[in-house]
Amino acid sequence: MNENEKKTGGISVNTENIFPVIKKWLYSEKDIFLRELVSNATDAVTKLKRLESLGEIPASTTPYRIDVVLDKEAKTLTVEDNGIGMTEEELKKYICSIALSGAVDFIQKYEGDGEGGKNGIIGHFGLGFYSAFMVSDTVEIHTRSYTDAPAVHWTCSADGEYEIEAGERACRGTEIILHIAEEETEYLDAGKLREMLRKYCAFMPVEIYFDDGSEKKEEEKEEPINDTLPLWQRSPADCTDEDYKDFYRKVFADFKEPLFQIHINADYPLNFKGILYFPRIASNYESLEGQVKLYYNQVFVADNIKEVIPEYLLMLRGVLDCPELPLNVSRSYLQTNSYVNKVSAHIVKKVADKLVSMQREDKEAYAKVWDDIKTFVEYACMRDDKFWSRTKDVLLLKQNDGTHVTVQEYLDAAKEKHENTVYYTTDPSLQAQYVAMYEAEGISVVCFDSLLDTQFAALIESKMSGVKFVRVDADLASVLKNEGSANENEELRTLFRAVSGNEQLNVRFEALKDADIPTILNVSEESRRMEDMMRMYRMSGEDAMPPFPTDTTLIVNTTSPLVEKVAAMQTADAEKAKGFASYLYRLAVLSQRRFNAEEMQEFLKDSYRILTELAK
Ligand code: ADP
Repeated sequence: MNENEKKTGGISVNTENIFPVIKKWLYSEKDIFLRELVSNATDAVTKLKRLESLGEIPASTTPYRIDVVLDKEAKTLTVEDNGIGMTEEELKKYICSIALSGAVDFIQKYEGDGEGGKNGIIGHFGLGFYSAFMVSDTVEIHTRSYTDAPAVHWTCSADGEYEIEAGERACRGTEIILHIAEEETEYLDAGKLREMLRKYCAFMPVEIYFDDGSEKKEEEKEEPINDTLPLWQRSPADCTDEDYKDFYRKVFADFKEPLFQIHINADYPLNFKGILYFPRIASNYESLEGQVKLYYNQVFVADNIKEVIPEYLLMLRGVLDCPELPLNVSRSYLQTNSYVNKVSAHIVKKVADKLVSMQREDKEAYAKVWDDIKTFVEYACMRDDKFWSRTKDVLLLKQNDGTHVTVQEYLDAAKEKHENTVYYTTDPSLQAQYVAMYEAEGISVVCFDSLLDTQFAALIESKMSGVKFVRVDADLASVLKNEGSANENEELRTLFRAVSGNEQLNVRFEALKDADIPTILNVSEESRRMEDMMRMYRMSGEDAMPPFPTDTTLIVNTTSPLVEKVAAMQTADAEKAKGFASYLYRLAVLSQRRFNAEEMQEFLKDSYRILTELAK
């Protein structure tokens, strides 16, 4: 091309001009233009490196780099690389003609598909470079191919008219100059650009330098803004625990250490890499929302890709690099993509495998994190049968003494005294008396501290035939009773019914081993679960419920001397017996539920009266 010769043309598209389309459809996602340009620059370097490694060209003497340069005065933003460059033919072929056949159909199809749809358009038609026009009036390209071909200079205005002329670029590579549009001056803000680079380019594989136009001090060392070899690209064998923690801190700005991580390095055919962390959360309900960032060959694609991680593992934090997915993915694409489903299944398998290996390799460490992860594990088991099958042998139960055992270990220990029955408490302080009774007989009680635990118990029951979970106050295990039957006492039954205010109250006489306990209440496991369920669906809360389900039983311990005395008292002093029975009943209620206001007042009044008597 002659120095002074200029060629002009219009960007050729098959249907209609691309620019209004870009402006209209990509409007809300303007930031990604920088990602597109920097990742094109990265590709240009990668292509050249490949030629080098194939021996087609001698190795480069200068380090590969990408420069993002802001010039506020000139109102330009430049992305420059020293990669493969383009010849005039290539520029015409790759930049000046855009395959848009079917674009209108495509756009109509994605109309209303929100963000993803817009993204889909860019990815689908390889319009990455053209996203530059979302923020620019004019875009210039200075490029020089790695071959002997002369440099070329291309200028294109926002109406799609371009000029090509001989270029002046002296060295190999490409420089894209964006003349930022009047209404897009936010892209001349160094802070904004830095943030965009951090978000999209933090792990790109070629060193990226940002020059924000401010004066540099002499001694200031030039630092790339990115980490070209992010941890997930390394072999897990080369990564230390400290590396994983550092990476987590850097990426998630969370100074609470993660519990543990899973480094996935899936080969063909899935071919993806990633690191997933179990974050430390303060309580069961706080910040269940995790954050998994999706990358495409180290280029950031999106946050929180719900389609790739099953919903029950969304509290995970981490990074996934899926080079098999297009850089620009739409949600609808992901939802129906079989590759994505396989990736998701693989992640589930890896998470389950990790739990299994942790339990096998270091029981103590595993037990330590169990309380933090159990919400997710239990939930995952309930949502996904496969997850349950993979992890069923390493699901732990927390015992009242603070130790953890697997479900099977508990059942094995239970074999002799209470085969297939797991005793649990939902409130170790309220139910302390019951717990103590079981523990006195060498029966370990499991602690449940969330509603999910109870639902999880129901899942285990449905999966492991014969296994039953019974709350400590639901049933009197036979080991707690003396041999032989207890004596019935009809008068006492009538008295307890009267003082309880419930003429239908079940009163059962039992000879308990522990003679210190006069009376206790039992509520059948089934009806209590039913009530719990109803309570869950009710808005009005506990007060709207009757105090006890109908099959509540008052157990009167015939080995208790106190009970014996009350029985004898009945003939001598009926009034006194009533007072005692009433007080005993209320004590039994006390370890079942909270008193209401009236009960509390009466209980206190009675207690003071008794103390006064005693003090006489
Ligand atoms: P895509 O990157 O999806 O192919 P683009 O519109 O972003 O679509 O780019 C079109 C083509 O232009 C690229 O495939 C590449 O051949 C060429 N290209 C873009 N930027 C550069 C660059 N910085 N250096 C060399 N070639 C480039």
